[in-house]
Amino acid sequence: MPSKTKKPKASWKLSPALESTAQVDIATRYKNYIDGSWVAPSEGKYFPTKNPATGKKLSEVAKSTQPDVDLAVKAARKAYDEVWSQITPRERGKYLFRIARLIQERAREFAIIETLDGGKPIRESRDVDIPLAANHFFYYAGWADKLEYAFPNRKVAPIGVAGQIIPWNFPLLMAAWKIAPALATGNTVVLKPAETTPLTALKLAELFSDAGLPDGVVNIVTGDGTTGAELANHPGVDKIAFTGSTEVGKSIQKSAAGSNKRLTLELGGKAANIILEDAPIDQAVEGVVNGIYFNQGHVCCAGSRLFVQESVYEEVIQKLKQRIDTLIVGDPLDKNTDIGAINSREQLKTIQKYIKIGIKEGADLYQPECELSTVGSWCPPTLFTNVAQSSVIAQEEIFGPVLAAQTFRTVPEVIEKANNTPYGLAAGVWCDKGARLFQLTNALDAGVVWGNTYNQFDPTSPFGGYKESGFGREGGLHGLSAYLHTSSH
Ligand code: NAP
Ligand code: MG
Repeated sequence: MPSKTKKPKASWKLSPALESTAQVDIATRYKNYIDGSWVAPSEGKYFPTKNPATGKKLSEVAKSTQPDVDLAVKAARKAYDEVWSQITPRERGKYLFRIARLIQERAREFAIIETLDGGKPIRESRDVDIPLAANHFFYYAGWADKLEYAFPNRKVAPIGVAGQIIPWNFPLLMAAWKIAPALATGNTVVLKPAETTPLTALKLAELFSDAGLPDGVVNIVTGDGTTGAELANHPGVDKIAFTGSTEVGKSIQKSAAGSNKRLTLELGGKAANIILEDAPIDQAVEGVVNGIYFNQGHVCCAGSRLFVQESVYEEVIQKLKQRIDTLIVGDPLDKNTDIGAINSREQLKTIQKYIKIGIKEGADLYQPECELSTVGSWCPPTLFTNVAQSSVIAQEEIFGPVLAAQTFRTVPEVIEKANNTPYGLAAGVWCDKGARLFQLTNALDAGVVWGNTYNQFDPTSPFGGYKESGFGREGGLHGLSAYLHTSSH
């Protein structure tokens, strides 16, 4: 039976600490950014982008179709042939440094828009998304004129026009992950942001103009999945970089088969967070909370499965429930908020469907008692215990603040259980012994394994998956090679 325990009454309450939106400039309508200008979509249609915390419309953006994508790809090709492949690598680097500095200068505005459009807590967009996006531009700016050192004894050449399609969970950061290495290596770009979170990518276009980036080097076309498919299928695109669901990734892979297009896919995940009996328990519990409730669980590498060694299971679950009770679900613009709004109604329905499945499968549900706003989309932090390895909530990606906990007795057992998933994006291991940590990190089929920490990101570190989590790496040196042809001299 689902149980709801009473939230212990806090002896103190935090006063709201709302971030002001006074300085934020959001236009009532955005056209596409093509060849350095704002261009109306060929069919003249627009669709709204909403604030998921209030359900209110923030702006409207172009609904792009094939002719718009075609125009953007042609602009990118022209810019590649006539400008971007002609200037020196050092010049390219200068533009990237300029963009990085401009993001830093306007970081507050970007953070607020990210929170308004996507629903994530301002603390996170301010401290994670925007600084990391700037850092990616800084990092790849540094590589632009040093590619011969990145690939010693190899000849490198850009690929050409990159079509980039990104999801809604880290809108500006995903744009930075894709645009920065593409430009540093001499490629030009057509980017399609997600339908529900297009605004920071469009603000980034404003900033490209401010930076004096030559026209057509980056083009941004908004739209839905059909726009994304038009971009992926366009014959003028030489490389596709896609981050999103495994289902769409597979369809892109099929359509790219037989073409000359290079492809990288960053797809879904079902990461395991593993707590061994000698782990620092308080630290591990905090890491688990950060791993799944951070960003409403809208994280491809979210630690959505928890494995706890039997001898410490009771203690971990008790501490975890206590910590869950203190999490603040509420206005994303409030600096006290831990868990913001679910990105869209559709995503909320998906999460609720999985919670129902978990209950039906016989797992024990734990949710804190918290008042949720009646407008907007919200989900309390959710913990399932007594979860079977075969259960749907332990196998499928939920992409919400829902954690499925299981126990294990031995290390070989947890390795087998953790690897028993079609995904292979990330994992976390909590234990005191370095040798054990390395044993586990080597045995886990995951692109990233964090030891005694979780969700740490850095531009120098490659990120990507195994199995159905995709292929190719973003970040670090590996992220450069995804945008280059390399050959021997
Ligand atoms: P999604 O539905 O696959 O969408 C991703 C992007 O692709 C969006 O821009 C989407 O447009 C577009 N798209 C939809 N259908 C398309 C098609 N047939 N052809 C080309 N493009 C298409 O994924 P999502 O729901 O936005 O994002 C959540 C997923 O992304 C999760 O599975 C998560 O694990 C994954 N993710 C992975 C990583 C990683 O690095 N591995 C990082 C972040 C997220 P619309 O927005 O209009 O639908
Ligand atoms: Mg929105």
